Parts: sequence; structure tokens; C-alpha cells
Amino acid sequence: MLGRIKGIDRALLSMINRAARDSLPNEFLAMLRAEEGVVQELLLLPGTLQGEDSALLSLHMMPIDYTVVGTVHSHPGHSNRPSRQDLEFFRRYGRVHIITCLPFNERSWKAYDHQGRPIDLPIVDL
Ligand SMILES: [Zn+2]
Repeated sequence: MLGRIKGIDRALLSMINRAARDSLPNEFLAMLRAEEGVVQELLLLPGTLQGEDSALLSLHMMPIDYTVVGTVHSHPGHSNRPSRQDLEFFRRYGRVHIITCLPFNERSWKAYDHQGRPIDLPIVDL
């Protein structure tokens, strides 16, 4: 199976932040794919809900794809802390979860593990 996740591609991160801005006032939501330990691709799923309150994936839509390591979603406000719903979701699926918030830049995001604990995910240039 997959080893440790050691970073996120800078280009992907800016793509995420752009998508988050474009999705305002809604949330942006996607799955994260990693290769060789670096998160570097998004997987957009049909049937995801992008509401104003919370973006929740329907679990039955989840692909069986071992390159998927977690999720990313945006908060239209200034907090990148996981909500209670986010925490419930993190526990059930994936290992790395990113939340980005306004102003959607390289400093406004945070990565969490499946228990909602902040993890260090360095930005790497591929
Ligand atoms: Zn959230």
C-alpha cells in the first residue's frame, strides 16, 4: 500500500485555491491523489454536494482507488478549522484532509489527519 505522504505539489495547491475562489460563495470539494508520496492530483466526483454550510461527499460515490489519499475542501470564511461534520467525515474516509479558507493562498490552508489533528504537509515543487 501507500507509504507516508510527504508533501503537496505547489501547482496543485494553487489550483485548489483558484478553484476555491471560483466556487464562492459555495465550497469547493475534491478528492486528493498522491503519487510517490506527493499529493499532486485532484479527482472531481459527480454527485458531490457543494452547499454553503458544508460540502459532504456521499460515501457510496467514493471510488475504490488506492491513489486517493484523502479530500480537500474550502471554507468560504476565514477559518480552516474542521467543523464537526468535517471531523465525522475525516474519520470515515482517507488519511489526509486539506481545508483552505479565505483568502485562499499558500498560507490559508491546513492539512489534517483522519482524527482532525493538524499535520505538517510541506509544499514541494515537482
Ligand atoms: Zn469544512
